Amino acid sequence: MAALKPRHLDTQVVVIGAGPVGLMLAGELRLGGADVIVLEQRDAPTTESRASTLHARTMEILDSRGLLDPIGTPPNEPRGHFGGIPLDLTLPGPYPGQWKVPQTRTEEVLQDWAASLGADIRRGHELRTLSVREDHVETEATGPDGTVRLRARYVVGCDGENSTVRALTGAGFPGEDAGREMLRADVAGIDIPARRFERLEKGLAIAACRDGVTRVMVHAFGSAAEPRTREPAFTEIAAAWKRVTGEDISCGTPLWVNSFGDANRQLDHYRDGRVLFAGDAAHQQMPIGGQALNLGLQDAVNLGWKLALHVARKAPEGLLDSYHTERHAVGQRVLANIKAQAMLLLGGPEVEPIRAVFGELLTEEDVRSHLAGTVSGLDIRYDVGQGEGEHPLTGARLPHTALLTGDGPDTTTALLRAGRGLLLDLSGDQDSGAPARATAAPWADRVTTVTATAPADSPFRAGDRVLVRPDGHIVRAGPGTRGLDTALRRWFGPPTAAGAADTSIDKWRNDMGRLIGRTALITGSSRGMGRAAAIRLAREGALVAVHYTSSKEAADEVVATIEKDGGRAFAVRAELGVPGDVHELFLGLEEGLRERTGSTDLNILVNNAGVMGNVTPEETTPDKFDRLFAVNAKAPFFLIQRAEKNMPNGGRIINISSGLTHCANPNEIAYAMTKGAVEQLARHFAKHLGPRNITVNSVAPGITRNGNPVFDIPEAVEQMAQLSAFGRVGEPEDVADVVAFLASDDARWITGSFVDATGGTLLG
Ligand code: NAP
Repeated sequence: MAALKPRHLDTQVVVIGAGPVGLMLAGELRLGGADVIVLEQRDAPTTESRASTLHARTMEILDSRGLLDPIGTPPNEPRGHFGGIPLDLTLPGPYPGQWKVPQTRTEEVLQDWAASLGADIRRGHELRTLSVREDHVETEATGPDGTVRLRARYVVGCDGENSTVRALTGAGFPGEDAGREMLRADVAGIDIPARRFERLEKGLAIAACRDGVTRVMVHAFGSAAEPRTREPAFTEIAAAWKRVTGEDISCGTPLWVNSFGDANRQLDHYRDGRVLFAGDAAHQQMPIGGQALNLGLQDAVNLGWKLALHVARKAPEGLLDSYHTERHAVGQRVLANIKAQAMLLLGGPEVEPIRAVFGELLTEEDVRSHLAGTVSGLDIRYDVGQGEGEHPLTGARLPHTALLTGDGPDTTTALLRAGRGLLLDLSGDQDSGAPARATAAPWADRVTTVTATAPADSPFRAGDRVLVRPDGHIVRAGPGTRGLDTALRRWFGPPTAAGAADTSIDKWRNDMGRLIGRTALITGSSRGMGRAAAIRLAREGALVAVHYTSSKEAADEVVATIEKDGGRAFAVRAELGVPGDVHELFLGLEEGLRERTGSTDLNILVNNAGVMGNVTPEETTPDKFDRLFAVNAKAPFFLIQRAEKNMPNGGRIINISSGLTHCANPNEIAYAMTKGAVEQLARHFAKHLGPRNITVNSVAPGITRNGNPVFDIPEAVEQMAQLSAFGRVGEPEDVADVVAFLASDDARWITGSFVDATGGTLLG
């Protein structure tokens, strides 16, 4: 059989490993607008329930992404342990304690979420090679359809403690090998008493039964970890269980067997240039009390938005490296506490005195809440550089609080759903909040500003302006706006105008990703040039509202085409040129935007929908004339007027005019008049909106192929082609590319302009 030719793929980030950490990271990257491909060696999601504990902080994070609904209300166990010594994990917050969610379910939910956001998850792909180049990485994987070669700007190893990415890059993994181990099995068909960290004479035994399956864990005091290349046999586990408890479980049916040791390792650097690591690939620890999974998921949430901003070339200096600084320190602390726990847990009678002292200390509330804070992840506080006199919440997570916003009741948690930065203006009224909003306006593509009131018993002070990173950590809090600009720059990069001046070119992908994080409405994009512009803007990273009036199927087809290529879009219907048209369109638009981004910001408006006259001057009736004006000129005016409210500074308005404003066609007099009016929109609105860095331009196509049957007549097409200097009719993509340019930061210095996109037709 002839060898299959390798397929080549390009993306911005390739994630290796579709376990919970890789999937969480993929979703976070997509929220930040980055293209991501996930390669996973396994053909199907795991059926093993390795880690099943979600701690309070992880639950809050999942809630902030809307992921708790599919998980439901899992069993909750407020009692945790520290090295087997009971520890009440209850702390203030919406999810105190430990939540029991099988890893299979966590993975399923994260996979559905990441895929729904456009992550390209490819299973059955084994990573073979990895080369790091100056401006990209190249990977080769073998998959079900042969070899896949992938080029990306960054690679992230989320491939567990035996990480292939680590092996291929030769990253050292300093630390200690396992000295002791626990054997564990899920066994059906046995009936033994439940045991909660029972220390017996010969060892430690744990047994818990759920749904007819008993999970047993056992360690014989004094036994050393076996050097293992495969999982232990069930007979070995049954023998150890018998030795320690005296119970015979060998008649049971093992559903899963596994062992884990107290190895303790951590990478020196979570980032090495274009290669990053998260989860167990970055740190290996004994999976006691579910901390490993929680630590990994939180790595992913810390990294996702930073890497997304970085690949969008909007990240401030040092942001990506702060992933290592912040998460390595957290990892180090967790590893140290797990090591202490392993000593308490697996030590024989010689550790009894220290266990007794610990047990006593844990009755002190300060000690209990200190350890509960560490185990639950609720005490994580990053050094965000605010210094002296900082607000007590600076660096900590945004506490879950009910709020009253202009749109009604809300919560701080729900406001994080879009994975964007958040400026919470707690002045409660638009006027007092105006200076903070104005300060943050140039970051509107990265930070959503919400004016709200918090209840008196909330941890906030009235009038606080709280700047929150997408991972939920507060980087600035306090009244007024002092330090707000600095914090915005430090965490979200340069403001839009300065960011746009960054002309660094991504050598191998210089026409893509310019609109990441932007939203666009293109009227009449179910077909023709609007369709082409929708696809082009989505390819550039924008979330696109595909507007149509008569053909839902056509609009759905455009959305599906965009999504197939990993883009994001949704359809919105409204007939233009009739009373209430703009209102109806914006109802659907805002709902679609809010659902997907958590905000109703609209960065780009393309007024493309239009109807032609195709009627002689004599046959032009007042009704026909009015209809042409209503659709082609009046609707765009009021759409701009309405869009102004949703458009952050730096927005783009592009109106599709026609070459007929500059050459004659007696059958299109009224139509040409409407387009003449459209061109006035650019001139006058450009002046009006210039102070907000919003550009307004007209694009005038010449004869451009659309679905009109005339383009199926070769003679007619040939005749029309003669009008262009290039001897062909325009293709919708010819115009879409011009629209994409005007929508990009590259066109920041063009406004009020008439852009001839007629292919030289107007040269005469
Ligand atoms: P097209 O294929 O005719 O498609 C028109 C689009 O506008 C469709 O999506 C249609 O929605 C929508 N639309 C029409 N009337 C509407 C109304 N009353 N309310 C809401 N939506 C409406 O368009 P095109 O040829 O690509 O032209 C796009 C723009 O370029 C127009 O402004 C046109 O005047 C201008 N233009 C075209 C040419 C050319 O040669 N094609 C040349 C110069 C300028 P449905 O799908 O629901 O019907």
